[in-house]
Amino acid sequence: MNAGRDDARPAYIGLGSNLDDPCGQIARAFDLLDTIPRTRLVARSSLYRSAPFGPVEQPDFVNAVAKTLTSLDAPTLLQHLQEIERSQGRKASVRWGPRVLDLDLLVLGDEVIGEPRLAVPHPGIAERNFVLLPLREIAPDLVVPGLGRIVDIAVSESEPRISRIV
Ligand code: AMP
Repeated sequence: MNAGRDDARPAYIGLGSNLDDPCGQIARAFDLLDTIPRTRLVARSSLYRSAPFGPVEQPDFVNAVAKTLTSLDAPTLLQHLQEIERSQGRKASVRWGPRVLDLDLLVLGDEVIGEPRLAVPHPGIAERNFVLLPLREIAPDLVVPGLGRIVDIAVSESEPRISRIV
């Protein structure tokens, strides 16, 4: 809240869930993003359904993207996202496995960070349709640092199709 400050930058957050009422988890997470200090939720994408990725047998995912305005730095924002994940019951889980809530910091202004603990822009933007399509929906004019215009990033034809649910 109260991020009407001059130093506020747009931050795009990817949301995903495939356990315990995924649509409800995503709706609650959108609301919680608006409670992060110095951060305001300004847009939410539609919800999308996507087939799970990787070797683990599990339910379909529901994915979405939020736009916030924040004056937090990237590591602090990530800490708040991880707190929200924990508050919604996320436990450490296997890679590619089912999860109650996954929050990824996709883009923060024009910042570029290339560390394993914090990679921004998030590598999933160009690799995963369930990130690219909802991000494009709410930010068609976005230019992603290092990747270029969001509308020019190719949709992957090899991935399972995703569908818009609401
Ligand atoms: P995941 O299981 O997909 O949620 O991955 C969580 C791990 O990814 C955490 O250890 C984070 O530190 C790391 N990570 C790296 N970059 C990001 C990012 N942009 N957003 C969220 N988590 C990230």
